[in-house]
This record gives sequence, structure tokens and C-alpha cells, in this order.
Amino acid sequence: MARIWHFISHILGFEKLSTNEKEYLHESNIKSSIYMGFIVVALEVWMLIRQIKKRVLIKVKDGYPLFDMMVKYTSKYWLFLIIGLALMIFCIYCKRAKKFTKPVFIAMLTSGIFCFLYTFVLFLENFTKVNVGAGIGETQAFILNFLLVFLYVCTFVIGTSIIIYSIFKYYKNITIPILEHIIIIAFTLICLDFGFLVSYSDFMQDKEIICFLTMILYVGCLLIYRPYISLLILGVSFQLFYNILTTFQDGKSFAPVDGVISGDSVNYFTFLVSLVTICFAIYHGRLNEAHKTYALEKNLKNDGLTGLLNFNYFTEKSRELILTSNNINSYIFLFIDIYNFKSYNDQRGFEAGNEFLTKVGSFLTELFDDKEHTCLFGRQADDHFVVLTKADNVIENVNTLTKKIKAMDNEILLGVNAGGYRPLDEKEDPRRCIDRARHASAVIKKNVDVSFIEYDAKMGDEYRKRLYILNNIENAVNNGWITPYYQPVVWSENKEICGCEALARWIDPVYGQLYPNEFIPVLEEYSLIHKLDRCIIERVCQDLRNAIDNDKPYFPVSLNFSRLDFELMDAVSELETLVNKYNIPKELIHVEITESALIDSFTILSVAINKLKELGYSIWLDDFGSGYSSLNVLKDYSFDVLKIDMRFLSNLDKNEKSKVLIDCIIQMANRIDMLTLTEGVETFDEADFLNSVGCDRLQGYLFGKPVPKEVLYQRIESKELIVSKKII
Ligand code: C2E
Ligand code: CA
Ligand code: CA
Repeated sequence: MARIWHFISHILGFEKLSTNEKEYLHESNIKSSIYMGFIVVALEVWMLIRQIKKRVLIKVKDGYPLFDMMVKYTSKYWLFLIIGLALMIFCIYCKRAKKFTKPVFIAMLTSGIFCFLYTFVLFLENFTKVNVGAGIGETQAFILNFLLVFLYVCTFVIGTSIIIYSIFKYYKNITIPILEHIIIIAFTLICLDFGFLVSYSDFMQDKEIICFLTMILYVGCLLIYRPYISLLILGVSFQLFYNILTTFQDGKSFAPVDGVISGDSVNYFTFLVSLVTICFAIYHGRLNEAHKTYALEKNLKNDGLTGLLNFNYFTEKSRELILTSNNINSYIFLFIDIYNFKSYNDQRGFEAGNEFLTKVGSFLTELFDDKEHTCLFGRQADDHFVVLTKADNVIENVNTLTKKIKAMDNEILLGVNAGGYRPLDEKEDPRRCIDRARHASAVIKKNVDVSFIEYDAKMGDEYRKRLYILNNIENAVNNGWITPYYQPVVWSENKEICGCEALARWIDPVYGQLYPNEFIPVLEEYSLIHKLDRCIIERVCQDLRNAIDNDKPYFPVSLNFSRLDFELMDAVSELETLVNKYNIPKELIHVEITESALIDSFTILSVAINKLKELGYSIWLDDFGSGYSSLNVLKDYSFDVLKIDMRFLSNLDKNEKSKVLIDCIIQMANRIDMLTLTEGVETFDEADFLNSVGCDRLQGYLFGKPVPKEVLYQRIESKELIVSKKII
């Protein structure tokens, strides 16, 4: 039973439709109304020409005044022409936010005003025009007058609705969908009414009821409502018209009426059934189309995971929003990056990571949306979200978002790095706006304490610098702007040089000296870092070869490898090739790999490290103690030297715990056969302490800042630095 009811309610269209389905059906009706409007216009132009030729001109020739004749014979045709035009203009432009320009507004408003005024005038003129007498009975006069008044009321409603709609849309940028519905329904009723009226008068002249049938066909096939409504409209219209006809007969015998009542009533009924069936079929067809279109649009517009807009569609929609907004300064673009999401994904698994991102998506809509739902939300990629929202309360909202995100995991430190940018004018490219917001967010990236920062002009300079770096890395490599600076590494016991670390510097013709913190994150972000590292390896090999060939003192050099080097190139072969090309003994090259790199790419790096060790290179673990799982890293890989991060030395004299920790780390390293080096040594006290707890090597400003190789040699020649005999 329930199934049968379900089936019937589906066929009759009682089921609840989603907003998208409703919207699709409504839009189809709007499109159909454009054709309806066109049909009406064409018909009325034709009728006007015919009437003027057939009646007006003949009367004028007979001496009647032109104006009076026009009013007498053509006023209703003009009315329909105006309605048809108004409907066409309205339906073409009502859904097009971008094209609602001033001329369109004026055209729509004028057509509305015309409808409004003209109907008003006609209404007053014609109110009681159809009188009893001349073959017309009381009932007929009443019906005709009723149909006439109803016609004027409907066109009056259309006129008023168009006026209100266009004013709100143009001045306030507010769309009132209910008016769209009213206009279409009123037009449907006008068509029916017109069919009744014309056919009724045709009928009085003993003609066929073609107009009624044509109009009902238009309404039935072009404007599609829910099937039960169509059934109701068509059923009632047919019945009503049938009644009118039979009432009109008034005892006299008219051929058409006889036809309808007797044998032809079957055809009349069959016509109704066919029309209703066609209506049902079109309705269900459109509903199917709606499903397909929606699924397709969803794919094109939405991000599959979070359901927010995808990046392309977000930029497209934000361009529209900016263009049509009356107060562009009240909006702000946000670029939101989730702090430490990578750890969350690694530790909690891919599924949990996806769930997390979906939740972030719903937090965003909850927090940033406004009452009119004008805000836009999208996912750019990975854990990067983009929002276009009202600028008031943005800081509070970002803070609430941060709290919500932090609360999602008690063990992993999560947070938000959001950058904001307010578009300056409606022509500003949204991609540029998002890029600036993104740039602002990059400024606070990896800082869990700051959640929000707005773009400012200074960031513009940094932004240009970033672009410059990206565009010029090839030039920098080819023209020798990239060069290694060398920072000495000394034995702890006698402070004699046992090696040095090669640290990249970019000596730029425009910007002067650039430091690694300026170019390395940018190159890593855009996967270009391997170009720089290959260049540094080659320069270091050249320098070593030079020193060996020229009998200068030489010592091992530590090279910094980025995690991405192992993904973007075959780092092991690249190193091997260059070391062989310049014939450098392997023991003169130390490979530094940071702790965080190991956590991020376990498999690739463990293969690479084993290979490097087999080939005879010494592997150093850089920045030990700065990441989260240092001890695991020690368990899983075998390193030759542990470089203790310089953070351990801060406040060493005041913080007893630091001393204990460093002591323990050194002992632990020794027990698993690793040597130790402490970075960032700046004072004699620190150096003494590190020596006392058995740290093997030291590096820091106390023994020398990173300098070009010439300066390093000068210092060695001047005996300021002494090269140890034991260099390995
Ligand atoms: P890092 O490998 O930890 O290098 C040590 C950094 O600490 C260097 O900064 C160095 O100048 C600085 N430093 C050394 N001693 C002291 C000290 O006593 N006090 C203080 N405050 N700082 C000291 P730099 O040269 O700016 O390099 C920064 C980071 O950039 C490096 O950290 C390394 O991770 C990266 N880097 C540098 N050159 C390269 C390279 O050629 N390739 C790659 N992939 N990364 C590089
Ligand atoms: Ca290093
Ligand atoms: Ca380091």
C-alpha cells in the first residue's frame, strides 16, 4: 500500500523536492516564458497589422479620427504586446546577476511601468464595457466582464511585480524569488484568460474554439508545474470552458457547441487527457534533467571531500560577488592554512584526516556565513581553505575557529594560520586577492600562536621578492649568484677546525645578499629547491678540488639536503656524479639531513640514507631536538653525527634543565655509537660546558659566522683559525 501511495505521489508530484530541483524547474519555466513572451509578441504584432489594415485605416478613410479608431480596435493588442515584451525582458535578465546593467534596469523598469499604467487606464475604460443586449445575456455579460477584469488584474500584478523586482535588484542587489513566481503564475493565468476570452467571442460568431486550445497547449507544454497542479489547472479550465459554452447556448443551436456536447466531447476529453499526460511526462523529464544537471554541476563546482566550492568555481563566484556588491570594502578574502595538519594526517590516518577537513569545512560555514548567505567558501587544495566573507568580526571568528580546531585533538598541537586581504575595488582579480591573503598567511605559517594577519603593503614587497626568487632561480644558478658560505666546525677539546658547513647565499644584482630563510622556503614550496642544492654541491666540490690542487688546507664540508631533494631528483646519483666528476674523496663530504625531513618521508629517505652510507658518505642528523619524534628517528636510522639544535643553548646559564638534557643527549648518542656536535655556540661558557659534558664538535658564531671561502682562507692564513691535523 505504502508503495502504491509512494508511486502515485511520485507521479502526481506530491513528493518533497530539493532546493536544486525546485530551482531547476523554476528556471526552466523562466526560459519557457521567454518563448511564450516571443510567441505573444509575434502574434500581437501580426494582429495589430491586421487590425490596422482591416479596420482602423478603413474607418479613418471614412472620416473617423485615427486616435479613436486605434483605441477602439487595437487597445487590447497593444496591451498584450507590452506584456509579451515585458515578460521577455524580465525572463531574459532576471537570472543574470552580471548583466543587470543600467540599460537593462531601465528597460525592465519601463516595461513594468508601461504594463502598470496601461492596464490601469484600460481597466478604468473597459470596466463595464460588455453590456447586456445585442444577443448577449446577463450571464454571458458577467462572464466576459469577469474575464476582462481578471485579465487586467493579472497584468497589473505583473507590472507592479516587475517594477518592485527591478528596483530591488538594481539598487539593493536583492533578488526576490517570490516575485519571479508571481510573474510566471500571473502570466499563465493571463494566457488561460485570453484563451477563454477570444474563444468565447469567436464562439459567439459561430467560429471554432482554436484560441482556447492553443493557449491551453502553450500553458500545458511550456510552463510546467507539479503534475497535480497542472492537472488541476487544465481540468478546471476545460470544465469551466465547457460550462461556459453550454451556458452560452441559451437554448439556441450552434454548430460548435453541438459538436463539443455530442460526438466531439470525446475528442475534447481525449485532448485533455493527452495534454495532462504530456505535462506529466515533461515534468518527470525535467526532474531527471535536474538530477543530472545537479550531479554534473556538483562535480564541476564542488570539492569532492568537503562539499565546499572547488578553487576554480570559488574564484569565479567571488568575481561575480565582487562585481555586483554595492559595498566591496566590507568584504575580506581569507586564506586559511591548518597548522600541523600533516602530523595529524600521519598519526591519525588518512580517513581521520579527511574527516577532519570535512569538519573544518562545516566550521567555516557555521562561523563566517551571514544572514543573506552571500559568503563563499572553498578548498584550494590539501589543508588550504579560502573564504570570502564580511570583514566585521573576522578576528573573533578566526579565533573561534582556532579554538574549535585545537579542541579536535588533545594530543596533537593544531591551529590556524589565516591571512586576510580586502579587495580594493570591484575590478580586482580574485586570484590576486587570494594570493595576497595566502601570502599574509605564509608570514605566520608554522607559528601556532598567531592565527590571523592581514595583508599590508610591506608584505607586497616580500611578495614581489618571492616572485623574483621564483622567476630568477635559473638565472641565479647559471650566473653564479648562488654561492656557498662556509661556517667553521671545531673540535670541542682544542677549538681547531675539523670541517665546515656550507650554507647557501644568493648574492643578487638587485636585492644584494639574500639569506636562506628568504629563498629556501619559497623554493621548497614551489619544488625548485633541488636546483639550488645541486648548484651548492657542485660549487663545494669545485672549491674542494681547487684547495686540493693548490695545496691549500682543506677539510670536510657538510652539505644541507632538503627532504624534497630526494623526491625531486635522484639526490644520491647527483651527488655521486659530481663527487666523481671533481674526484673528491668521499670522507670530505658530510650529508646533513634534518630530523623533520625524516618524519615526513620515511621510505624514500631510509633507502637513500642506506645507499649514501654504502657509498661511503658520513650522514649527520641536523637540528636534533627541534621536531617531535627525535628518539624514533635515532632508532630507525643510523647516523654518524648528531647535531644538537641551537635552541638547547638558549638561557643555558639560567636553565639547569637544559644542561641536564644536553648531557643526557650526548651520553645517549655515545651509547649508540654516534658522535655529537652542538650548533649555535656563542659564548665561552657554553663552549666550556659542552666540552665538559663530552660534546665532540662545536659550531657557532663564537668560532666564526658563515663567510665566503676567501675570507675563511684569510682567517686561516692569519692563524685566527687553526686547521686540525685530525679532520675526520
Ligand atoms: P642550519 O642547517 O641549521 O644552519 C645553521 C644556521 O644557523 C645557519 O643559518 C647559521 O648561519 C646559523 N648559525 C650558526 N651559528 C649560529 C650562532 O651561533 N647563532 C645563531 N643565532 N645562528 C647561528 P643560515 O645560513 O641562515 O641557514 C639557515 C638554514 O637554511 C639552515 O639551517 C639550513 O636548514 C638552510 N640552508 C642553508 N643553506 C642550505 C642549502 O644549501 N641547502 C638547503 N637545503 N638548506 C640550506
Ligand atoms: Ca645544517
Ligand atoms: Ca641546524
